[in-house]
Amino acid sequence: MKIHDISLPIHPAMLVWPGDCQPRFPRTGDLAAGDEATVTAITFSAHTGTHVDAPNHFIAGAPGVDSLDLSVLIGPAVVVDTGDAGAISARVLAALDIPHGSTRVIFRTANTRTDALRKAFREDYVGLTPDGAQWLLDRGVRLIGVDYLSVGSTRENVATHNLLLGAGVILLETLDLAALRPGPYQLIALPLKLVGLDGAPTRALLIEPD
Ligand SMILES: [Zn+2]
Repeated sequence: MKIHDISLPIHPAMLVWPGDCQPRFPRTGDLAAGDEATVTAITFSAHTGTHVDAPNHFIAGAPGVDSLDLSVLIGPAVVVDTGDAGAISARVLAALDIPHGSTRVIFRTANTRTDALRKAFREDYVGLTPDGAQWLLDRGVRLIGVDYLSVGSTRENVATHNLLLGAGVILLETLDLAALRPGPYQLIALPLKLVGLDGAPTRALLIEPD
């Protein structure tokens, strides 16, 4: 069984969305300082590194991340490559070979080819347009994975999130897909059980078929 860990390492110098706090790990206990044990506190945004968005990230009063359906977060997923496309639009999607009936779709884009997650933030990352989001909704997709900090392109980020989170689609963001080929996998994505929060750090794995 070949397991691909598609989660991004979390560390203080990592790329975060502009305005989000950088991760910090202050020690409340330290063996080196003579304490009985080393204990580290964790301070970062719920949208740090590989994470899921909950419906209440953009929709007031909607459920939080602990309500997400685990049966959507585990199961067959397809990785598709969008080539040099500057955005994931309905037109781009129609030209891809997304197998009929796919419920979990993960997009490997030019963000991966340019190693964008390990560089400074850029506004022109490849994201999903609202008409692309609608295209996926119309085909019954329940989970969407992307290889940058947010699912929607900068200008249309709110509209894309509203469409997808409003329809109960689970968004899996900031995936490290550098080692991944397009094709079918089994996805396991387990967000931390943070009560009522708008997102949660997630360990995400893709398992290759035998
Ligand atoms: Zn997010």
